[in-house]
Amino acid sequence: MSSQLPATLSSVRALLRQGHTLVQIQCGPEVTTSCNKEIIHQVPNSKRTLWTTSKPAGSFDCCSLCSSGTLAFCILSSSSGTPGPREGAFLGCFQSAGCHRYQSEGTAHLSHLFLLHGLSPEADSSPLAMTQHLPSLTRVAVCGGTHGNEMSGVFLVRHWMRDPSELQRSTFHAVPFLGNPRATEQCRRYIDRDLNRTFTADFLNSKVPDTDLYEVQRAQEINQTFGPKSSSQAYDLMLDLHNTTANMGSCLIVDSGNNLLAMHMCNYIQKHSGIRHCPILLYQQQPEEETYSVFSVAKVGLALELGPQPQGVARADLLAQMRSIVACALDFIEEFNQGMLFPALETEAYKVVGFVDFPRYPNGEISAAIHPNLQDKDFQPLKSGDPIFQTVSGEDILYEGDKTTYPVFINEAAYYEKRVAFIETEKCTVSHPALQKSF
Ligand SMILES: [Zn+2]
Repeated sequence: MSSQLPATLSSVRALLRQGHTLVQIQCGPEVTTSCNKEIIHQVPNSKRTLWTTSKPAGSFDCCSLCSSGTLAFCILSSSSGTPGPREGAFLGCFQSAGCHRYQSEGTAHLSHLFLLHGLSPEADSSPLAMTQHLPSLTRVAVCGGTHGNEMSGVFLVRHWMRDPSELQRSTFHAVPFLGNPRATEQCRRYIDRDLNRTFTADFLNSKVPDTDLYEVQRAQEINQTFGPKSSSQAYDLMLDLHNTTANMGSCLIVDSGNNLLAMHMCNYIQKHSGIRHCPILLYQQQPEEETYSVFSVAKVGLALELGPQPQGVARADLLAQMRSIVACALDFIEEFNQGMLFPALETEAYKVVGFVDFPRYPNGEISAAIHPNLQDKDFQPLKSGDPIFQTVSGEDILYEGDKTTYPVFINEAAYYEKRVAFIETEKCTVSHPALQKSF
C-alpha cells in the first residue's frame, strides 16, 4: 500500500482523480475544522467536501484513526502562518496500519495534514464515522454577570442562586455563580478592567500591585474555585451568559471549532433548543493564541451572547431564549453522561478574522457612525464596496476588505472603548466524528 502513497500535493490530486477520497484529519481527541479551507477535491455524490486544514506544530497522534489499517495521511507544511497547502513542502506520508505519532518538523510553522482514505475499496468507513469517546462530565458551572450590566444572565443566575433546582440533572452537579458581583451591584460592565479579558497566566499568577484591581482579584478567586485553568482539577464545563447591544440573535461562542464536545453541544442546541437561529462564533483567531475569557478556566467552555438588548435592560424574550439554551446544554450533558451516541456532525460556523475600528479625526474622536445599511446586519455578507460608516455630513465610507466577510458585534456599545466598530468573520464548515461517553 505504501507504494501508492503520494509524494507531493500534485500526486495527491492525481490519486483523488483516480477516485480516492480525501477526508479530514483527526489529531488526538480533536478534529480540525475546515476554516480557511482550500478545497482540493469534491467527493462525488457526497456532502463531504474535503479540504486542507491546519494544526500548530507539535505532536500529532492518529491512534484513534488507525484501526482499519486503510488510512494514510500526508503532511505538508507552510512557512507562513496562513493555512493553505504549499506544493513542494511535503514532509512525510505514512501508512496507518498501526498507531503512528508524528512529530512536526515545523517550529513555529503550521503543518497541513491530509488524511487519505479509500485505498481499500471496501473500507468506506471514514474517520467521520468513527466514534470518539470522552469521559463523563460531573462538574458544571453556570456564570452570569461576568459583565455587570448584561441583564439576562444576571437575572437568571440570581434566580438559580436562590433556587438551583432547574439546573440539576441526575448525572452531574451544576453551580450557578455571579462572575462580577461588584459590577453587577452597580450595573456596570466592570469596576477596574474587563473581567472577561483577565483569565491569562499573567493576571492569574500576578501578585501586587495588579491585585489592587478588583477584576484581577476576582479572576484569581474564580480560577481557584472552578480551575485552576488547564489543570485536571478544573471544572468539566462552564457556561457563561452574556448580552450584546448588537443584533446577534442567540449566538453560541466557543474558542475554536476544534473542540469536539463543545461543537457537539452547539450542534445539539441548534437542533433541540427550538430557537430558529443559533449561529456559532469561533472566537480564537490562531490556535496558539492564549485564551482570556472566564469560561477558559473550565475544561470546556461555551458563552451565550444574546441580543440586541441595551445595557442595564432585561427583555423577557431574550431571557426566555437564554433559559432554553442553558436547559438544552444541560440536557445534552445529561444525555451524554447517560451514554447517548451523538452522530457525526457537519455545521456552519463563523470564525473571527479581524476587527474594524470607527473612522477617527486626528485627535482620536470618532468621525462617523455605523452606516444604516450595516446596522443590525450581523452575520449577513459584507462585500468590498458596501457602505459601512456614515459621517455626520452624510458621506458614506465603504468597506475595502478584499473578500466577503460576515460582520458581528456591529455597533456593540461595550466595544467603543475597545476601538471596535464591528468584528469581521469568515463563514466555515466544522465537521466532527460521532461522540459517546467512554465506558
Ligand atoms: Zn458580556
